[in-house]
Amino acid sequence: MGSKKVRTRLSYVDKQSILTEIATPIWVFDWENGRIDWANEAGLSLWEADDLGELRSRNLFSDQSARARMRIEQYRTDFLANRSITEQFTIYPKGVPKSITCRFSGIFLSDDRLAMLNQVVGAWQQTDDSPDNLRSINALFHTSTQVALYDRDGVLLYDNPAARGARPEGEHSLAARIVHQKDYARLQELLKANREAQAVMEVHTRLGIRWYEFDLRYTLDPVSGREAMLMSASDVTERKKAQDMADFLAFHDPLTKLPNRAHLLRDTAVWFAKLLAEGRAATLVFVDLDRFKSVNDTLGHSVGDELLVAFANRLRTICDPADHLARLSGDEFVVLTDRPQGQAELDDWSCQLDQALNQPYQLGQHTVKCSVSMGFCRMPDNGTDINLLLQRADVAMYEAKHTRRGSFRIFSQEMSQRFSRKVMLEKQLQTVLERDELELCFQPRISLETGRLAGAEALLRWRHPEEGLISPADFIPIMEETGLIIDVGDWVLRTACDWLKTWQALDPDLMVSVNISGQQCLRPGLANHLLSIVEQSGCHPSGLEFEITESVLIGDDPIIHHGFRLFKDAGIGLAIDDFGTGYSNLAYVQNYPVSCIKIDRSFVGDSSKTAITKMIISMCRLLNVTIVAEGVETLAQHDWLKAQGCDQYQGFLFAPAVSSNEFEDLIMASQATSHPLPIASERKPKRTQAVRAIS
Ligand code: C2E
Ligand code: CA
Ligand code: CA
Repeated sequence: MGSKKVRTRLSYVDKQSILTEIATPIWVFDWENGRIDWANEAGLSLWEADDLGELRSRNLFSDQSARARMRIEQYRTDFLANRSITEQFTIYPKGVPKSITCRFSGIFLSDDRLAMLNQVVGAWQQTDDSPDNLRSINALFHTSTQVALYDRDGVLLYDNPAARGARPEGEHSLAARIVHQKDYARLQELLKANREAQAVMEVHTRLGIRWYEFDLRYTLDPVSGREAMLMSASDVTERKKAQDMADFLAFHDPLTKLPNRAHLLRDTAVWFAKLLAEGRAATLVFVDLDRFKSVNDTLGHSVGDELLVAFANRLRTICDPADHLARLSGDEFVVLTDRPQGQAELDDWSCQLDQALNQPYQLGQHTVKCSVSMGFCRMPDNGTDINLLLQRADVAMYEAKHTRRGSFRIFSQEMSQRFSRKVMLEKQLQTVLERDELELCFQPRISLETGRLAGAEALLRWRHPEEGLISPADFIPIMEETGLIIDVGDWVLRTACDWLKTWQALDPDLMVSVNISGQQCLRPGLANHLLSIVEQSGCHPSGLEFEITESVLIGDDPIIHHGFRLFKDAGIGLAIDDFGTGYSNLAYVQNYPVSCIKIDRSFVGDSSKTAITKMIISMCRLLNVTIVAEGVETLAQHDWLKAQGCDQYQGFLFAPAVSSNEFEDLIMASQATSHPLPIASERKPKRTQAVRAIS
């Protein structure tokens, strides 16, 4: 190369020749093709190329890392801004690593495309650099971690390609990079205290605002020897988003976006403490959607989801932003507020909430009516622990739901006792059949015309080992709720039929009626199942009557229609129980095979209902169904009913429900005479079973 230099005479050469001859390796890199477009002699030698043609044929992208390529792309922007960059990096001509310091700048090719002009600064020989040094420089060039050095005032001294690629054009101040100044202040504080600081914060970058994880520490600037800040940072935006989402999901319900139970539990302790210190109260409301399951079942789960979202939105609009809302589970929500303080305010607020939450929803083409049952309790009056308050508001809600759906109750101690008893009974009821604690009693039905025994209603009793006899009003609703009524209902029917068979031998015209719960009727296939029990007992089904309440007939369910048809075909009678307490719709008598109407005892004892009772009796006579008056306690009631043409009565006037043995005595007494049977007060006093009062 030396001899060539000697031969060169400036007057004979053009500019390119000078470049060719110059000892500094120079080449032009066409990054669109990944190839060197031109190189001078020194460049060819650096690249270990035989000639330019051979060098041009090399695809440099093939041995370049993706990151290096990204860097090169990034230079494009710098070059367009007319900036050159000097950087130390390694090339690998024919696999030989050569570490060079290079000055890069932009140059336009003849076809107007921007290319990169590379100029080696100083010698490329690696003699004075230790291998470790070279490797660290190379790592700094290739790493995706952003490394930068700032002076004590946060002014940029150096940044590696990764940091430079992210830094907004012309921005040299660290403080200006950080979005929230309080974050920068925090970093500085930590640095001062510990000489190093780690933090995750939002930063301005070329890609907009991103989350960075910073590590800052004091070091010395090797050039000036002054104290400087070494920064390393990585973009953790995606990780932060995933983390934020995970945090959100841990404390929120993904469907309604409302806080969840964990959120409620987390936030309330501190809030309660604050309220207590201020002498203020809070109100917790447990809200439960009524019959939400049937919305899901009839309109589908997507409409069910829409309803939950609409409900949550309604809660948000009617509540204050400072109130705590939560979705606890499926259709259970909680509102926790400190707004109503006095009783009057609480009364007003609870009514407003009740009013607002019981409005129908428009979901697409569906207008969905879904009432809510609510339970209220107060902090601190009913407790200061959120779990206890939730439990108590739930008790109040349960009582509201089971008294009247769409209503609300405010927690009281008596409620709590009732609920505890219910929970206890519920547990004990599970084994009631195995422990043989159930008994069937029979309340006589007497013909008003003849005064003679017409039959009996079978009534269930629970002989509780500690509490004595418990009324069915206390445990039948629990059995219905738990589904236990199905098995117990079978037991009742089987027992009643067994007795009926025995008694039919004494009096072939005797009627025994059995109460059938709505749940029993609604089970598909249950009609056949009940019929098989009747058949197995061997009694004559014509002496059997099923008592059902009007509410069972309201839905006009095909399963019910079918079942009752089967019962009628088998010869079993159908009585509508508690008539007058529901819709009192006699149309059922035509739609269903009804053979008997039992007028509720609230009609018999109430003189203000005389007119309507009269009307019911005369209608039933026209429709040719048997009329039984329930709860007849006095002779006056008896005489009046008889005068109206009522067929039979049942009540304490004649007898309460008695044991099967006692009833059998009555059958025999009735068979032994053709006279009317004496009423209770005329018979020899007998020890009657005390039934625990309905609580
Ligand atoms: P219900 O079917 O209306 O039964 C009549 C209730 O009135 C019985 O209460 C009976 O003891 C009571 N009663 C009878 N005469 C008089 C009277 O003169 N005055 C007053 N004040 N009450 C009278 P009980 O036995 O406590 O039964 C309560 C309810 O439990 C029944 O009401 C019925 O709905 C249900 N039940 C009873 N046994 C069964 C059963 O085996 N299956 C089902 N599903 N329900 C049953
Ligand atoms: Ca009944
Ligand atoms: Ca009744």
